[in-house]
Amino acid sequence: MPLYAKVDREACIACGLCQMLAPTLFDYDADGLASYTPDHNTGTTPLTGAQAIVFRRAYTRCPTGAIHRQAAPFSSDEP
Ligand code: SF4
Repeated sequence: MPLYAKVDREACIACGLCQMLAPTLFDYDADGLASYTPDHNTGTTPLTGAQAIVFRRAYTRCPTGAIHRQAAPFSSDEP
């Protein structure tokens, strides 16, 4: 099953944890807010199997649940 990811930047508290745990998948801007970098936080490119393993580290530990995942691509109006 494909997996797509996106950070809800409204829910991100800029703790930096996801970037520490999965630096190949997450980065943050000047305000510290995170984004999912492989597809510029659009949530439209499925994770590879290797990415999914790393992704899980960050997804399960984000303190606010700001990292979202789903089996279908995100639409542009989703957080
Ligand atoms: S772990 Fe969650 S709250 Fe912390 S920077 Fe990443 S997305 Fe934001």
